[in-house]
Formats: sequence, C-alpha cells, structure tokens
Amino acid sequence: MPKKIKHNIWILFWALTVMGALFVIGILGYRYFEIQKYVYQKLHYSTLTLAQSAIDMRKYELLLDTLGQEFLSLEKEKRYDRMSKRAKAFLEIDPVIVGIGVADTKGNVLMSSGDIEHKKLPNLKQYEKSGESFKDALACKEMVIGRPYYLEAAQRWIIPMRKALRDSEGKVQLVILMALDLHRITEAIPYYKMEGVISQLILARYNYRIFKSDVQDPVLFNTWFSDPFSKDFVDHINALTLAQTGHDITYFKEKEKPFQLETVNLHGEKIFAALQYIKRYQLWVVVTMKKRLVYAVLVRDAILFIFAYFVVTLILFFLFRHIFILEMQRYKELHHKATHDNLTQLPNRNYLEENASEWIEDETPFSVAFFDMDNFKNVNDAYGHRIGDRVLIEVARRLQKSVPENAMVIRQGGDEFILFCRTYEQKVMEQKMHHIIEVLRAPYHIANHEFVLGVSVGVCSYPKDGHTLDELLSASDIAMYRAKEMKNSCLFFSREFLLQHQRTSEIENALRRALERKEFYLVYQPQISSVGEFSGVEALLRWESQELGAVSPVEFIKVAEDSGLILDIGHYVITESIRQIYELQQKTGKYFDLSINISVKQFSENNFVFNSYEKVHLLGFDPKRICVEVTESVFIDNMEYVIEELKKISQLDIKIALDDFGTGYSSLNMLQKLPINELKIDKSFVDEILHKQAVKKMVAVIIDMAKTLNLSVVAEGVDNGEQVALLRTMGCDIFQGYYFAKPMRVDELEVYIHSLAWKSK
Ligand code: C2E
Ligand code: CA
Ligand code: CA
Repeated sequence: MPKKIKHNIWILFWALTVMGALFVIGILGYRYFEIQKYVYQKLHYSTLTLAQSAIDMRKYELLLDTLGQEFLSLEKEKRYDRMSKRAKAFLEIDPVIVGIGVADTKGNVLMSSGDIEHKKLPNLKQYEKSGESFKDALACKEMVIGRPYYLEAAQRWIIPMRKALRDSEGKVQLVILMALDLHRITEAIPYYKMEGVISQLILARYNYRIFKSDVQDPVLFNTWFSDPFSKDFVDHINALTLAQTGHDITYFKEKEKPFQLETVNLHGEKIFAALQYIKRYQLWVVVTMKKRLVYAVLVRDAILFIFAYFVVTLILFFLFRHIFILEMQRYKELHHKATHDNLTQLPNRNYLEENASEWIEDETPFSVAFFDMDNFKNVNDAYGHRIGDRVLIEVARRLQKSVPENAMVIRQGGDEFILFCRTYEQKVMEQKMHHIIEVLRAPYHIANHEFVLGVSVGVCSYPKDGHTLDELLSASDIAMYRAKEMKNSCLFFSREFLLQHQRTSEIENALRRALERKEFYLVYQPQISSVGEFSGVEALLRWESQELGAVSPVEFIKVAEDSGLILDIGHYVITESIRQIYELQQKTGKYFDLSINISVKQFSENNFVFNSYEKVHLLGFDPKRICVEVTESVFIDNMEYVIEELKKISQLDIKIALDDFGTGYSSLNMLQKLPINELKIDKSFVDEILHKQAVKKMVAVIIDMAKTLNLSVVAEGVDNGEQVALLRTMGCDIFQGYYFAKPMRVDELEVYIHSLAWKSK
C-alpha cells in the first residue's frame, strides 16, 4: 500500500517535470522560429535597402548615356574637348567618379579626363582585368559593370563602367568609360549595420564582389576584391537554392525575387543568407548573418527558461516531497489504526492477514495458539464493560510479556488472542503454553476488585495441521474449543478433533432445518412406582435427519445448546409433549405425570418460566402433573440465577427433578438449597449397583438423604429385576428403564396404557 502512494505521488511529479520540460522545449522551439523569422525579415529589409543603392547605378548609366549621345552628336574635332569639359564638371560634382573616358571598339582609350592620362592606360580589350567586361559592353545594350581592380594610373581601386555608343543602325561606334572609386562607393552605400551581418554586391557575370560591408579599409581590398568566387562555390549555391527553395536559381534571377538560404560561409560558419538579383546590372545583392548570433539569442533565452524550469522543478520537488512525507505519515497512522486493536494496542486480525504470508512463505515450521479466556463474559456481566476492558488490557499486556521475542500476538476480538510462535516441538510448546496459562491465571487487581480468570488454549502447527491462514486458525480454534470443555488447559490439534468438528457442523447445519422439515418426534418412556403401578412418562426427543439418519439426542442436544437452536427445539418439546399427553389422557381417562427435559440454555430465554406456565395452563394440563428435569450441570456456571428461576417454576406448582444425579459436582448439602422435588439417580450407578459395594453404599446414602429432604427418588436405566429388587429395598420410589419399557411413540403408549388397564382388570 505505501508503495502505491509513493508511486502515484512521484508519477505525478515526474509527469509534471516531463510536461514542464516539453513546455520549455516547445517555448524554445517557438522562440527559435520567431528569432529566425525576425532575422529573415531583417535580412530581407537589408537586401531591399542594398538593392535600392544598386539601382542607384542607374544614375551613372544615365550619365554615360547623356555624355555618349552628346559625344556622338558633336563634330569629331569638338568632341574630345567638349567631353573633357563635361567630365571635369561631373568629377567636381560627384567625387565617386574617378574618371570618364572614351575608347574605340578595339579597346584603345582615346581620351580620359581627370588625373588619368589616357596614354598610360592599357588596351582595355586586351588587358586581363578589363578585357572581359569590355567585350561584354560591346555586346550589350545596357551599361556593363566590370570587375574592380587597382588602376595604376589613378593609384586607386576602381569599378569600371562602360557603355557602348551605337549609331542609328545599332553598330557600336565607341565605348564610353567611367571609373568609380571603390573606396568612396563603399563608404557611400547605405547598409544595415549589425555585428555578424554582412552585406555584399556581387557581379553575377564575373562572380567578383564590388561591395562588402565589412571591408571598408582599402588595405583589405586586394584580399577581397581581386579574386572571383570559384565555380564550385557558385554551383554549390545554385544546388542549395534548388534544394532549399524548390526553385532553380534562374527563377529568382528572372523574377528578381528575394529569397533566403541557410548555408555556410567561406570560413565554414553556418549562416542565413538573403539574396536578390538585379537583372539590369546582373548584380547579386546578398546579406548574410551568422547563425551563431541567432543561436546566441536563443541560448540566452534557453538559459533563462531552463534556469526557471529548474527552479520551478526544485520547488515542486520539495513540495511533493513534503506532501509525500505527510501522506506517508497519514498512511502509517491510518494503517496502524487499521491493523491494531484500539483497546489493547495489539495487532489485530487485519494485521494478521497482512503478515501471515511472511510466516507461511518462509516454510519453516511454526505453531499457532488460539487463546480464549474462560468465563470472561461473567466479568463483563457482573462489573460492566469498563472493568472488562481493563482486564483485557492487562491480559494483553501479560500475554505480550510472556511470549518469545519473534512471536506475533494478535487480538482476534473479544477475549480471544492468537499467537504465532516459532517454537515447533510439541513438548516445548506445551511448556510455554502452560507458563502462559499460569501467568494469565494470576489474580487481576482492577478498581479494587480481584479476578481470577482461566484461559483455554488450542495449538496447531504449520505445515502439519494446515497450509493457509484459514486452515491454521480453524485448526487452532477447533483445538481451543476442545480445551474449553476442560477449561484452563491447552490442547494440541488432532485429526480426530477435525472429524468431530466436521460432524458437529454437519449436525448443526441439519438441525437448522430439522424443525421446519418436521424431522423431530417424541417418544415417551414409562415410569413405574415401587408398587408396580404406571405413574408417568419421560418425554424424549428423537431426530430422524434427512441427511444424517437417526441422530442420538446425546449427540445433537449439545450442538443445539451451543448453537442456540435449543430454544426453538425446547419450545417444540414442551408444546408437543403437553399436547400429545393431554390428548392421550383425555382419550384414556388415565392421568399420569409428564417429565420434560429442559436444557440449561432455556433458562436464559426471557420469561421461560412464564411462557412454559402459559402453555401448561392454556392446554388445561394440571401443572402438578408436569415435572421439569434439569441436569446437575446447570448449576455449575450460574447457580444463583438458576435457583431463582427454579423457584419461580416451583411456585407455579410444577415439579422439578434433578437429572443424572451423581455425575456432576453438586454436593449433597447443596441439595437442600434447591427447590427440587425429585432426584434421578444416574444410569451409571444403577449399572454398577449389583457389583460394586461402594456404589451401592453411595446410592444408599443418596436415597437416605433424599428421604430426609422429602424428595422422591427415581432410578434411571434399570434393565433387570435384580436391580429393581435391590433399589426397592433401599427405598427407591420410581423406576424407569428397559426392564419395564423402552421409550415409545404416543400411539404405542396408548396401546401400552390399555394393556395395563387390561392387566389390572
Ligand atoms: P436422560 O434425560 O437421562 O434420558 C434418559 C436416557 O436413558 C434416554 O436416552 C433413555 O432412552 C435412556 N434409557 C432409559 N432406560 C434405559 C435402559 O434401561 N438402558 C439404557 N441403555 N438406556 C436407557 P435418550 O433418549 O437417548 O436421551 C439421552 C439424553 O438426551 C437424555 O438423558 C437427555 O439428557 C437428553 N434429551 C433427550 N430428550 C431431550 C429433550 O427433549 N430435551 C432436552 N433438553 N434433552 C433431552
Ligand atoms: Ca431426563
Ligand atoms: Ca438422566
């Protein structure tokens, strides 16, 4: 059980922890996409800005156009002069322009402005740094931007621009040239400034950069502007574009559509890149950002979230641990309450059921003892439950003190205790049990009262007498039940006990249905006076069970008494015998006594006396002709009470006989206290009277004393004439036994009575 609590609470904790972790991961994922979106947006706007400045190139193209048109429209002689004036003016207005010039289609520079002496310039078509772009310019309608290079003549890095001048037929006449100062352009181009963000302009024709935002210092130009991107790199970017966007790069070129890529830069660092193509100048606008920077933001967020997560988890952990500890405490208390007896604090039956398996699984033999206090009910009845409880507490204390250490003492309930004990050997166990019986027998001093209590103990052993808890408890209970018959003793379970117990249960079960199934009937045994006259009958109960056949009352009366069934059965005997005998008397006109056996248990029935009297009275039976037979043993437990009850019966003029006299414990002088009219000498004495002198003497004493007390004496179980003759001389008044008649049914009794009448006639 505690495992389960542990489980549930910690499962909840772990569930929350995992949910929290998932939540944090979710948030971070969301943050990642958000940051990425933000980055792309930034890159996108940066690209747009840069693209705008690229479009500004158009103003140079316009300039070249205007100059070119003018140049062509002038007469040849005036052209160069005019051109250099114009160029000078432009150079003054825009310091970005390094020089303006004109070349023929062969690449010879015909004129140049500014500081550049055209004669020092190489042939543009042949010079490796300008040849390609010069040829492109010849073939192209638009202005062509050439790869940047260091122009010795101007002593600086330039970006060359050229535009072919055509006549009306479209034939190229001349090429107009312009060199822009790379350094100045770099300074002039607006771009998005942020650490890790790099803006670039790349010539798609030649794969040269013309602008790189982090390269502002001319010292670095040689490193960054003198070499193109390799073909492999360009191919790689093309392939990447197709893979990441699903479109071929020409698609973006054609549409001038901005797009994004995730890739690595030349240093192998992961980057986001935004690209846009400007068709007119075949320019790539590229803005890149290192992913590391995005990650840095993310990592900062992650650290924050994870820290918060750990703090919350830690708080949760301590909270749960607190709850868990409280819960465990509560459970332990509840569990203790549920498994311990409130009064004696001993473990109870629940505890036993939880722990018995440990003993049984162990498979080492052990003993189980079942204790039941003798007559404990009397303490409760006489002194009340409070005192009774205190006695039980003391019993529990003594028990616990006197058992071995590894034993388990259980309060089964009421005044019953169970002991599980590792001792197995019967002799040793017997000694231990007798020791405990002695300890429990020592007087109890409670609230100024002194009690002496006996205890009956039944012992069984595992695995000999049982393999399960139920089997062991029932075996020890059966043994205890047998010990109870002797009181204050200890008995070990045996198979015979079990068989008897089974027989008893069978009888009890069958008895429950016996009345309604009408399995009972009565027989009557005649009683004969000393002068040989029929004087009365004793009603005796017979049971013909459907399941068990005929069962002797010697066997079933005891079971009926123990199970309480005797009340209904006794009721049947009284009413039925009175009814039958009354009818018979009416029929035969012969009036005689009716003896009815009454069990001690029937006295405990409310108003037994009154109820009995009512029945006698209602039927019109003369109470003087009724005799109630009680056995001596009734007086053992409850003498005072029984005497009171008997007195009431006596006052109703009903006679009382003391049955089985001599077998019990009642002393002769006790007889005078009892309100009885008759003594029935037990059959066991009658049996031996002829052979044993001592018995004969004793019977003589009994009869003498009965006479002095004015009691009539009945001899039971006489089965021969010699017994009758002897007892008659000794003064016995009435005889009952097979010698005269066996018990018989009422119709047989009728025949018997008639035969007597016939005899006497
Ligand atoms: P009990 O009251 O002492 O009854 C006398 C028993 O002795 C009867 O046995 C009777 O059949 C038997 N008996 C009489 N004469 C002779 C004889 O010459 N030889 C032998 N061997 N036996 C003789 P039963 O009917 O088996 O009754 C046994 C006991 O059962 C009775 O002993 C009585 O204590 C109890 N019992 C019988 N009927 C009732 C009843 O209706 N109510 C109660 N409470 N107990 C009853
Ligand atoms: Ca009797
Ligand atoms: Ca008897």
